[in-house]
Amino acid sequence: MTAWVIGNWKLNPTSLLEVKTLAQQLVQNVYQAKLDDVQLMVAPSFVHLSAVQSELSHQEDTEPAILLASQDVSAMSADIGAYTGEVSANQLVDMDVDWVIVGHSERRQYFDEDNDLLLQKIRNAQAKELGVIFCIGESEADYQAEITEKVLAEQLQVIYSVFEQTSSDIKLIIAYEPVWAIGTGRVPSTSDVDSVHKFIRQQLANMDAKLQDVPIIYGGSVKPDNAKAFSSLPSVNGVLVGGAALDADSFLAIAQSFVE
Ligand code: PEP
Repeated sequence: MTAWVIGNWKLNPTSLLEVKTLAQQLVQNVYQAKLDDVQLMVAPSFVHLSAVQSELSHQEDTEPAILLASQDVSAMSADIGAYTGEVSANQLVDMDVDWVIVGHSERRQYFDEDNDLLLQKIRNAQAKELGVIFCIGESEADYQAEITEKVLAEQLQVIYSVFEQTSSDIKLIIAYEPVWAIGTGRVPSTSDVDSVHKFIRQQLANMDAKLQDVPIIYGGSVKPDNAKAFSSLPSVNGVLVGGAALDADSFLAIAQSFVE
């Protein structure tokens, strides 16, 4: 199975020059890294999509080693409309974006994004055939209260709703990201990650047969020195990387951990 290594650049870096340099370093070094069966993807901020797309267009192969994702998509419209500040799925497709991140914990936390809104975002992405990286994860309080599975099952209701209302295919990746592990340097034990991924796999299997091969990736403080612990678990089909994705060498080193 292909392993997915996805970099979420969030509100970084500061300048266009830094963005271009990072994208260039990735394009220059990705083939040397010989990342067989590893699919890379980067998610810059909206304003940098065009510059990164231009750098990624210099990739040697017709099958790109590095795909382009956005960090969000409008729930309001999949096309055009009077929605100040929004970016639609159609506009993203026009920028050669392949995938969108939906439901990142920072959007749930700071922008109050709930299941209804996330469902609409997924529908809009799906309408334009964008892939969806759907993030789920428990808070520290949920973890302490041992209600991780309950929380994840509630968050996965969005995916259930998507399939309840459509029979069409959807390109989907589930990213399990414990909120308390994001940007903190703390990571769950590999046995916890393994059992949560198996739980998610079971939930997906119960929803729809089409979901049985959906990749389930882990996110939260993944670094070059701990990536192998995750890549060695068959239940982990890749990683979503924040901080360590802002350095080309460390991002590629993480990807290398997934080469069999
Ligand atoms: C993230 O925000 O998705 C993430 C995984 O961040 P970090 O790797 O910095 O913990």
